[in-house]
Amino acid sequence: MAVQERDLESIVKKVLEELSRKEETPEAGQGVFEDMNDAIEAAEQAQKELIKLSLEERGAIIEAIREASRKHVETFARMAVEETGMGNYEDKVRKNVLVIDKTPGIEDLKTEAVSGDNGLTVVELSPYGVIGSITPTTNPTETIICNSIGMIAAGNSVVFSPHPGAKDTSLKAVEIINQAIVEAGGPKNLITSIAEPSIDQANIMMRHKKVRMLVATGGPGVVKAVLTSGKKAIGAGAGNPPVVVDETADLEKAAKDIVDGCSFDNNIPCVAEKELFVVEAVADYLVFHMKKHGAFQLNDPKHIEKLTELVVDNGHANKEFVGKDIQYILKQIGVDAPQDARIAIMDVEADHPLVPAELMMPILPVVRTANVDEAIELAVEAEHGFRHTSIMHSKNIDNLTKFAKAIQTTIFVKNGPSYAGLGVGGEGYTSFTIAGPTGEGLTSAKDFARKRKCVLVDSLSVR
Ligand code: NAD
Repeated sequence: MAVQERDLESIVKKVLEELSRKEETPEAGQGVFEDMNDAIEAAEQAQKELIKLSLEERGAIIEAIREASRKHVETFARMAVEETGMGNYEDKVRKNVLVIDKTPGIEDLKTEAVSGDNGLTVVELSPYGVIGSITPTTNPTETIICNSIGMIAAGNSVVFSPHPGAKDTSLKAVEIINQAIVEAGGPKNLITSIAEPSIDQANIMMRHKKVRMLVATGGPGVVKAVLTSGKKAIGAGAGNPPVVVDETADLEKAAKDIVDGCSFDNNIPCVAEKELFVVEAVADYLVFHMKKHGAFQLNDPKHIEKLTELVVDNGHANKEFVGKDIQYILKQIGVDAPQDARIAIMDVEADHPLVPAELMMPILPVVRTANVDEAIELAVEAEHGFRHTSIMHSKNIDNLTKFAKAIQTTIFVKNGPSYAGLGVGGEGYTSFTIAGPTGEGLTSAKDFARKRKCVLVDSLSVR
């Protein structure tokens, strides 16, 4: 029977599709278990193998994680947008590249030494063993890459409990990282997870005696859960970052920085600008320039009311609209935002429901204040004592100092977009697990390690 040209075309297409799928899914299933207990047991075995390796070999594993992740950033970004329906592809690519480039590795582990008449004592950073890491929907692969680098650099293995809403994307990262580790000569299952993550499975992990440390990256519920687990825990919780602008700021630059930071990945980063407090005298000028950079102003009080009803649900964000484009959100209230709009802004009073809610949407309520002291006071209130992130645009060092002291946030960005605090256009390393409640700050390998003191009596002090 002769094969028609059309049939041939379709066969070739199918074969090519199959081949490209295979290329994207290197040995699917690596590190992913049906049962949480098996995932933990396998990670425990892997950790025992890991600590037999030299530090140089551990360093090579970290490099392999970076390289393999780099090859897949586009897949990670695409999958995350498709699966979670939040954020945008370009910014997700940027966030993944950021953690690959700027998460510290084994160089983060510094040994302390004391020497004297009684010899030499060193304090070294050693692994906990198996770490249980609970990860969010908002940065699924970024958190897995970042925590894998830091936790493995410190000599641990990791069991990931991802958000069910980002399951496929998260498990893809687990598989790719596992494969890279094995190819670099490391043990298999150094990071593991389960095929069907859920809060019940996270609870099994939290209670398991072989999990020696817990790290929660998410909202208040999960942070509370790990902190009441009875285990050593790091909690990286919610924020509601206020931005304050006083009359001394470079207003043109502030306007651009605020829109850039607030619109980044449709506002889902926990550090992103969530409400603006601006001194009345300069408010119109600031808003005028924000509009030039893609801020769309809602003026009709009815629109503001309808939007509030839509996006605020009992004081919290309506999950349906988290991380969505501003055009999509405004369409629901019958407003057509221009295609180049990146965020919506609206004048409100400080006690308006849009201000205290951590919306994670490209919506920025603007509160005008009589002076900088009032702006600072209201910003501190809006942050709820989360001590996460705040931003200020000012040239007055006394005002900057006053706000930084009053708000006590883990990240305080002066005269830049919020993401400068993550190391984009700002100095310093990055982390996607920012531990405000437990105080580690931007976590890195040193925070996933135990301090151990080794004392050599009467020798090796050569002073
Ligand atoms: P979420 O709290 O809904 O979920 C986070 C993770 O915790 C998920 O894996 C979820 O399954 C799990 N979880 C939730 N409640 C739990 C419980 N009671 N017991 C066990 N596991 C539980 O958060 P999300 O929507 O995925 O992410 C957004 C939130 O996370 C925002 O509040 C944001 O500010 C915060 N966040 C903080 C940081 C940080 O570094 N501080 C980083 C990213 C996100």
